[in-house]
Amino acid sequence: MLTVPAYAATSATEPLTPTTVERRDVGPHDVLIEIEYVGICHSDIHNVRSEWGPASYPVVPGHEIAGVVAQVGSEVTRYAVGDRVGVGCMVNSCRECAPCLRGEEQYCLKGNTLTYGSIDKDGTLTQGGYSTHIVVDDDFVVRIPGALALDEAAPLLCAGITTYSPLRRWGAGPGKKVAVVGLGGVGHMAVKIAHALGAQVTVLSQSLKKKDDGLRLGADHYVATSAPATFEQLVGAFDLIVNTASARVDLDSYLRLLKPGGVLINVGAPPESLSLDVFSLVMHGHICAGSLIGGIGETQEMLDFCGEHGIGAEVEIIPAAKINEAFERMIASDVRYRFVIDTSTLV
Ligand code: NAP
Ligand code: ZN
Ligand code: ZN
Repeated sequence: MLTVPAYAATSATEPLTPTTVERRDVGPHDVLIEIEYVGICHSDIHNVRSEWGPASYPVVPGHEIAGVVAQVGSEVTRYAVGDRVGVGCMVNSCRECAPCLRGEEQYCLKGNTLTYGSIDKDGTLTQGGYSTHIVVDDDFVVRIPGALALDEAAPLLCAGITTYSPLRRWGAGPGKKVAVVGLGGVGHMAVKIAHALGAQVTVLSQSLKKKDDGLRLGADHYVATSAPATFEQLVGAFDLIVNTASARVDLDSYLRLLKPGGVLINVGAPPESLSLDVFSLVMHGHICAGSLIGGIGETQEMLDFCGEHGIGAEVEIIPAAKINEAFERMIASDVRYRFVIDTSTLV
């Protein structure tokens, strides 16, 4: 057992504080990873504040993990000490159900084991990547391409795969018009990846404050949803809309912006339920869909794609002592575009 520094929430209302966590001994199929960087996802905030239902405290969040292999189990052949690797939102699944067998472990029928806040196979509560080390089954470890710096790669493990998976599934590519709602951590990856896939990209942000950045990241157009004319001018404009907003939005307004048969993909996961008028779907055959991260094989495919296209996240590196401040800035939509913790500041 290894005792390692970490940052944890002890309740829904208190700030995160320094602590330690126990990592299990490296089993035959395990990899011990020395974490170098870990991204802060808005899901970490929803979780630690029990916005999605009561969390089991203490919670060490963090599921955008990038680091280096420090030790491998006796049966591990894919990874060696020194390899640059990542871990995303899952560390295990049943491996037997239909979704697992087709590589969609995120939809495991028995419930996958999340990187934090899940009961692990040994009965302990999983603890995430706001920490210096983690022990993970090698089937849930992915390789980070040499072309990507580890700090810029960390957010790909959640924000990257969360956008790559539905963009591929719903056919983003040349000739397709894709809108991205919300230019935060997930949204900026949606812009970069949709652009790299060859789609024409429009950002639908609350204001024009981040317009220059949006265009630099690969958007062709940038529109403020606060401007009254926006929802009239863009009726029927898009094949796909990726909604990354961390708060409630009016689905009917966005569905009207789709072409006939177009798809509104919800990846944002606000705690409040969203409602829609069924006529927003039936009159033009619109599809209102959702998507959860992506499978492990697809995560590797996304990393390789990002490596080939030189796509990393735009990051603001912070010391662990600034985690609580970063949470507040994200809630205020003041993130450009992913906070990433330098885990050397945890010790
Ligand atoms: P983030 O960095 O905080 O970005 C969220 C963005 O949403 C903000 O920057 C803002 O963009 C927009 N927004 C915030 N409040 C809004 C409001 N009231 N109305 C309209 N837009 C608003 O968060 P994130 O890490 O990208 O995560 C976004 C959401 O996706 C969270 O709910 C998170 O839990 C969820 N998520 C889901 C998955 C999945 O697998 N489905 C994976 C990761 C994250 P503008 O300033 O540009 O308007
Ligand atoms: Zn996430
Ligand atoms: Zn399964």
